[in-house]
Amino acid sequence: MFSKVHTVGIRGVEGYPILVEADVSDGLPGFTMVGYLASEVREAQDRVRTAIRNSGFKLAAKKVTINLSPADIRKEGTAFDLPIAVAVLAASGIIDPSALRSCIISGELGLDGEVKPVRGTLSITEAAKKDGKTRCFLPEENVEEGLITEGMAITGVNRLRQLVDYLNCPSSIRTAVRGNDFMTEEQNSYDMDFSEINGQLLLRRATEVAVAGMHNILYIGPAGAGKTMAAQRIPTIMPTLSLEENIEISKIYSICGLLPADRPLLSRRPFRSPHHTITPQALTGGGRIPRPGEISLASGGVLFLDELPEFQKRSIEVLRQPMEERKITISRIHGSYDYPANVMISAAMNPCSCGYYPDRSKCRCTQQQVKNYINRISKPLLDRMDISVEASPLTYEEMQGTGGESSSVIRQRVEKARIIQRDRLEGSGIYFNSSMKQTHIADFCKLGTAEKVFLKQVFSQMDISARGYNKILKVARTIADLEGSLTIEKEHLAEAVGYRNMETKYWGGSNG
Ligand SMILES: [Zn+2]
Repeated sequence: MFSKVHTVGIRGVEGYPILVEADVSDGLPGFTMVGYLASEVREAQDRVRTAIRNSGFKLAAKKVTINLSPADIRKEGTAFDLPIAVAVLAASGIIDPSALRSCIISGELGLDGEVKPVRGTLSITEAAKKDGKTRCFLPEENVEEGLITEGMAITGVNRLRQLVDYLNCPSSIRTAVRGNDFMTEEQNSYDMDFSEINGQLLLRRATEVAVAGMHNILYIGPAGAGKTMAAQRIPTIMPTLSLEENIEISKIYSICGLLPADRPLLSRRPFRSPHHTITPQALTGGGRIPRPGEISLASGGVLFLDELPEFQKRSIEVLRQPMEERKITISRIHGSYDYPANVMISAAMNPCSCGYYPDRSKCRCTQQQVKNYINRISKPLLDRMDISVEASPLTYEEMQGTGGESSSVIRQRVEKARIIQRDRLEGSGIYFNSSMKQTHIADFCKLGTAEKVFLKQVFSQMDISARGYNKILKVARTIADLEGSLTIEKEHLAEAVGYRNMETKYWGGSNG
């Protein structure tokens, strides 16, 4: 006899439909599995046969053939155990195959027939919905996560035996579907706020501009000047997380096994701050079976690189491609894996190894030492930081002062500026000023005569490269958007130019 069971495989963060076919026939007894299988999938046959036996089912001594299709995609992971077991039992006449048509089955099996949780449930249920399926049988522990997918009937199972009973008696199936009270959780529930930062007007303003246009930002300044404090609060002024975006980000966490079972959606935008000893692979993702790295876990939020010059050169350099493409591709013999890398990068560094330059009353570094320290940041990387800003030590008055505007007030301005960008760039596939290509810059960053004269002056004084020129225009566009101005005015340009002063001061001019 022959049977078919639908399930979902995962590649990168996306699920794709897999069909498990089982054929049980007379012939030399045996168990064969085909279909471009990774070693852990091939090992499923031992788990499946033992779990079936220990669940009290007796298989006749027959020839069992399992095929997982499509054949051109490599199957990985242990979530195929349960669908394979069901396919075998259906082909053996133990399960009524009529119940299998419109559902997805996923789960790992223990030798005693227990159903164990799998990673990436959210990717599985979203792919099932896309494939037109209406019901998913999932490990009990994955039910809450599966319920995120709208309109999908989710049934949790603890044991293989329980699933067989359900399939043979559909009226007994207990099902849950996502309720309307789903997104009750406050989506801007951060335990920190911009109002906690005293003074630092320039730092605050630069951060707001950076977030409004998704520009990468570099903070330079001595320890204790508030660099980390500002970076940590970036997510609090980013636009409120929509459900769709939250699902996309949560998928990444699900695949890494980082979503708590009882609260399967993120409640806030990610802020990832890996230590500077991190390996390039941990930062970008990888491994034998590739997993997302820190840059993907920061997707939709902030990747903060504190003490930037202390990072391995290689770690920093590997970020260049994802910074431009907003995704990361990991190549393997078996194909390539795409992970999202839609992040805002913020970095912080001391101006020298002691941290006090240019305060010569405290800094003991020689000019050459300062230069060597600064030069650990390669120019191509520096080139990708759209905004660099100096965090100066707090004055006495600033320390005494009360905080500035709250995150929610700043967020409203950011959201407005984001809407302007989205509308202007509609249909181009990009959403932020920082992602604009040459043609967009030509269309949307036109300058008047006075503005051109101003930039020409700046050029002759600051020796700015062509790339630097474009960055100034993009940042100026964002500043104009924050103000609701259709045109880029001189004051917008002047502010954008100001965010390049650090480069001139510390790196000695433009890089091109
Ligand atoms: Zn120093």
